[in-house]
Amino acid sequence: MARIRLDHIRHAYSAELAKAGTYALREIDHVFEDGGAYALLGPSGCGKTTLLNIISGLLTPSEGHLYFDRTDVTMLTPEQRNIAQVFQFPVIYDTMTVAENLAFPLKNRKVPAGEVKRRVADMLARIGLEEKANRKARGLTADEKQKISLGRGLVRSDVNAILFDEPLTVIDPHMKWQLRSELKQLHREFAMTMVYVTHDQTEALTFADKVVVMYDGEVVQIGTPEELFERPQHTFVGYFIGSPGMNVLPCTVDGSDAIVSGERIALPNGAGFKRTGKTELGIRPEFVTLVERGGPNAMPVTIDKVEDIGSERIVRARLGDHPLSAIIEEGASVPSQAAVTFAPHALNLYADSRLVDRSGGTA
Ligand code: ADP
Ligand code: MG
Repeated sequence: MARIRLDHIRHAYSAELAKAGTYALREIDHVFEDGGAYALLGPSGCGKTTLLNIISGLLTPSEGHLYFDRTDVTMLTPEQRNIAQVFQFPVIYDTMTVAENLAFPLKNRKVPAGEVKRRVADMLARIGLEEKANRKARGLTADEKQKISLGRGLVRSDVNAILFDEPLTVIDPHMKWQLRSELKQLHREFAMTMVYVTHDQTEALTFADKVVVMYDGEVVQIGTPEELFERPQHTFVGYFIGSPGMNVLPCTVDGSDAIVSGERIALPNGAGFKRTGKTELGIRPEFVTLVERGGPNAMPVTIDKVEDIGSERIVRARLGDHPLSAIIEEGASVPSQAAVTFAPHALNLYADSRLVDRSGGTA
């Protein structure tokens, strides 16, 4: 396994696109530590597959370098990089049996026969296809075929890293959970460097130790699930992660206060903050409290709708012209003359979409 370093990687799919300034990856400068379990999370089109294919060698970046440990692999072929990659859709040999498909990457690498047998049996059990070991792959269902693809990716122990590109797309929902647990288990047992691409926050947050959030060709934050929840470094992270996402309210800043729709809110990072450009206040719905009007710091709101989501309720309201969501407990009452307060520790201030740190600079 290897430490993977992306050194100022940029990528445009053609010279014309580069000339027009249209980069699929605008600038990626990042390290995946040896043995880490990472998720690359972001909406469709943000550059996840492009980045993964640059790591595996299917694509050569327009600019920058890629290192595995200290070796520059930018110009090496996928074969030479010794990477396993699992794609969104099955890549298998239809005419081979399930067991032969799993044995193939090992035989290719001249692994001794006894070892091949042992590893194939182990992998068949992990992906739940023991009973079908001797069936030709051709007749199997799409999700069985995808399990074979996963097995082929995971069966080797000598790879530098294993890359997954939305591998559970064709798997049915209850199997998804099981296979994801199996991947986590393999990671715990063998400490492989794993990079897992997904656009699904639940998948990312349950799989990874570290989540790399991408937006529009850039990495906007790398963090643990807790860090992404508590201190989104970018407004995009705030509303992409969480359900519903963070409230992002346009504001102006006056001394140590933010002003939203004429309401004054004391900022935790204190005085002396001066900034031009777009400023916004972020507060997660979990930290918005519904109160009666007239109390200290209570800001009147109009309630549009209350949605039941099991053990909690989501209140959809408006503060002035701005939509605002709050999460309240199932039994909590909704005041008829409603107002809200914000938990001060959970306020995040953004300047041009980037978090302003507690000392007044941007992160
Ligand atoms: P994701 O995997 O996050 O959905 P991609 O890496 O596939 O995103 O795509 C990133 C951007 O690059 C998108 O704007 C997409 O349209 C563009 N793109 C992807 N593949 C190609 C290609 N072969 N030629 C030109 N543009 C591409
Ligand atoms: Mg993709």
